[in-house]
Amino acid sequence: MQPSMFNVQVPLGEGSDVFLMNTLSDAQLLVSSDVTGLLSSISERIADGDSAFNDEERATIEALVENGFLVGTREEERGALKQYFTNMVEDTDQLRITVLTTLQCNFACDYCFQGDHGDHNKFAHKMSLETAARVIDWAEHRLDEVQPEKFVLTLFGGEPLLNLPVCYMLAERCHALCEERGVKFLVNIITNGLLLTEEVVDRLTPYGLNGIKITLDGDRETHNRMRPLRGKQGTFDKIIENLRKVSGKVAITIGGNFDESSVDSYPALLDYLREQDFADDIAKINFKPIIKPPAPVKPKGFIPLSVVGSDGNPLGGACMTTAGAGGGSASACDSCHFVDEKMQFLRDETRKHGFETPDGVHMGPCEIHRRHAYSIGPDGDLYNCPGFTGDAGQSTGHIDGREESWRAAVAERFERLTAHKEECGDCSFVPVCGGGCSVAAQTELGDMHQPSCHKGAFESALVSLAQRTAASSM
Ligand code: SF4
Ligand code: SF4
Repeated sequence: MQPSMFNVQVPLGEGSDVFLMNTLSDAQLLVSSDVTGLLSSISERIADGDSAFNDEERATIEALVENGFLVGTREEERGALKQYFTNMVEDTDQLRITVLTTLQCNFACDYCFQGDHGDHNKFAHKMSLETAARVIDWAEHRLDEVQPEKFVLTLFGGEPLLNLPVCYMLAERCHALCEERGVKFLVNIITNGLLLTEEVVDRLTPYGLNGIKITLDGDRETHNRMRPLRGKQGTFDKIIENLRKVSGKVAITIGGNFDESSVDSYPALLDYLREQDFADDIAKINFKPIIKPPAPVKPKGFIPLSVVGSDGNPLGGACMTTAGAGGGSASACDSCHFVDEKMQFLRDETRKHGFETPDGVHMGPCEIHRRHAYSIGPDGDLYNCPGFTGDAGQSTGHIDGREESWRAAVAERFERLTAHKEECGDCSFVPVCGGGCSVAAQTELGDMHQPSCHKGAFESALVSLAQRTAASSM
């Protein structure tokens, strides 16, 4: 018997309890230092033949075994981890499909290659109703093959609401498919919020509209600088007006993409949101860093990315970063340290303002590792996650089933992606990290198979989780 390699501890101060968590079993306990002492000495005591535990120790050992803090051999534990990842990869409870209804966007954000820059919108692909019909046929086959309990459709772009006929058609017909099969159907939308109206919400609500994610990149002034229209006009006021109108009708999640120049404006945004009459209708807030390939790499194929999950909140674990494809052979990210510190700062600020936000510990493994999660581009190209959709060369298939050797080769490359990367070794965060975001690894390191490591962010998030757990137990 030995301590699990997935145990993590946070001492809560001299003479105080210790927060003990196992990232594989997700057990979380506040224990005395006697318990952590027993935990760390147990292997040695057994090896020394000292297995004369008293009644109290035996009861503690039993509880630690039950919660996964004490395990058998390392091989057994690695086997349990492998099984955990296999179950996640093959999970059939949910079918998740993200559809990019268009690559056009009505914003001209500097950090995004999509959008109203140059002649992008003139050539950016938009899904036709014919392609949408084929997507629906394809989804029907997936429904019959996977037989999930739940089908989560996420409408994404570009700006998905620039293609409302396709949004409506997908939602209505997929809803009907699910009704026929007794499958729960949910629709989420990731939008910049400019075209979000009550009419859109009212039209989609009967067909399973579940959550809408809107991006605000800082306070009014910062957001207007970061996310303007082509003529540099600000978009903040209009988005807030739209938000106010639809709040209460649908769960709203606020996302935000920050960098060094905008991060300090987020507390002012939180102040502003707290003062609004719709503050209590905001289901969750989740800010993320913009990770750019370092200069001189041109940020081609760079997509701000955030995905809402089945509950309308950001996917548990998905998209730890704001990253995108096509960064080429960029060197390692030089902003990790900044990012790791700021992520926790923003999470703490968000909580202080009374809003829900992810805890920063339960971050992965993300959608890319799930076999029954797909992203579909406007032309019917299939991708393994939304973050790769900016680069047609990363398509792993097509909804019409065409066989092309280059896509087969890409698919084979993705098939080799694993949530337990060799480089991660026995890192205690493997079960909740899965090696980080593969898109970020591709963008920053030029190799999606490498870990994109933000261990510092996990550690500071763990401290924050420990402090909150301790505070709530008083
Ligand atoms: S690989 Fe990155 S972008 Fe893709 S789903 Fe995972 S976290 Fe999101
Ligand atoms: S990427 Fe870093 S934090 Fe994540 S499992 Fe690997 S070593 Fe641990």
